[in-house]
Amino acid sequence: MSRRYSGRHPGPKTGGIQSGARSGEFHPEISEDLLAQCMHCGLCLSVCPTYALTGLERSSPRGRIRLMKSVMDGMIPVTGTFEYEMNFCLDCQACQTACPAGVRYGELVESAREFIQTNKKGIGLKRVLLRKFFMGRSGLRVVSALLRVYQKTGFEKVVLILAGVIPIGILKRARLLPKLSDKFAIDILPEFLEPKSPARGTLAVLTGCVMDAMYADANVDTVDVLRENGWRVAVPHAQVCCGSVNGHAGDNETARALAIKNIEAFEETGAEYYIVNSAGCSAFLKEYGKLLAENPHYSDRAKRFSGRVREFSEFIYETGYRKPKSKTESTVTYHEACHLVHTQRISTQPREIVKEISGDSYRELDEATWCCGSAGIYNMVHYDEAAQLLDRKLENIKRCGAHTVIAGNPGCLAQIAAGAKNGKMDVEVIHLATALNRLYKSEK
Ligand code: SF4
Ligand code: SF4
Repeated sequence: MSRRYSGRHPGPKTGGIQSGARSGEFHPEISEDLLAQCMHCGLCLSVCPTYALTGLERSSPRGRIRLMKSVMDGMIPVTGTFEYEMNFCLDCQACQTACPAGVRYGELVESAREFIQTNKKGIGLKRVLLRKFFMGRSGLRVVSALLRVYQKTGFEKVVLILAGVIPIGILKRARLLPKLSDKFAIDILPEFLEPKSPARGTLAVLTGCVMDAMYADANVDTVDVLRENGWRVAVPHAQVCCGSVNGHAGDNETARALAIKNIEAFEETGAEYYIVNSAGCSAFLKEYGKLLAENPHYSDRAKRFSGRVREFSEFIYETGYRKPKSKTESTVTYHEACHLVHTQRISTQPREIVKEISGDSYRELDEATWCCGSAGIYNMVHYDEAAQLLDRKLENIKRCGAHTVIAGNPGCLAQIAAGAKNGKMDVEVIHLATALNRLYKSEK
């Protein structure tokens, strides 16, 4: 049984939710059964980073679930506090992993966010910007081109010096920006590439948007590793952003439009599996079936699409990959991206590959599944809280003594690399595909 947030709770103007909120354009549903599933046992509290930061019940999974239920039951209005807490949540889903009752917390918080966004008066600047940026490749291209100029002309150096002297607002955030790729992988790679060993079948690869802007080399490495292992690889040039950033921010309308474009682009390739090397994107692509469940033209195609999606490490571990002849020279550890370990329950596969390629140089990371604070655009919006989570991650990295950190998500790669650089740590942060491909290349 499910019931919609009705928008019938007049809230104060302070939080941006207006009384008499409209409903009907979207249908954000929160399952009453899902909410009722929470037994309020509190077993999720110890794994929740925002609860660890504030110690407040309302910043915990249990507290947020209570807030959602109270709003849905009409016990409290939708307030600024409600909106704040839904957005203060990292959506890391660590609570989902810990929950003995199987509460699908991620679905709850994302529905609540969609409800908030849908019922806001006006479309909201954040949503407009995210829509412009991710809807097509042109927004991404323009912003990336400007940032490349900013980084290459030395202007960035001035900003970073200023950020050290006056650590405020945008200046602090400038310290998080990684070096942008010179070119997108999607512009370098042809649409079809033949395997480097006897053919096993055809795959299609998602290059992503943030991933391709910041880690185009990891995309090229991903394609190389797949070809090395006998796969013919398609890189559909008509693909677009997966829609996760919009979806997580409550804009499912944009996410659905992007999903449709991707379904069409990937179907064209005739590939058996769709390989994704970014945790956030693979988690979201696996949800296209649910996202488009109400669309009469695309629901079946979306389900088929999601059934073909495999995260990179999941795929190569399960189908088999050639073990490199040598091991990594550096000491290596593995950080578990939230959307891999918690959302997709992918942990053994990448960890085993990392152990295999690093041998005796492998170091276990304490709290490897604890969020690094990146969480989409969370580190921009909640800079100070994200910085505290990053410090905790860096302390654990220092303690384990690794000089290479492997992770499977661009946000984590950028966040940890920025922290290591700003903290003058001798640590390189790379994607698993890059680590593996370096070893393959060293054999030639
Ligand atoms: S979400 Fe799960 S772990 Fe947390 S209080 Fe509810 S039932 Fe317990
Ligand atoms: S998703 Fe993460 S931050 Fe949000 S309530 Fe769950 S554990 Fe806490």
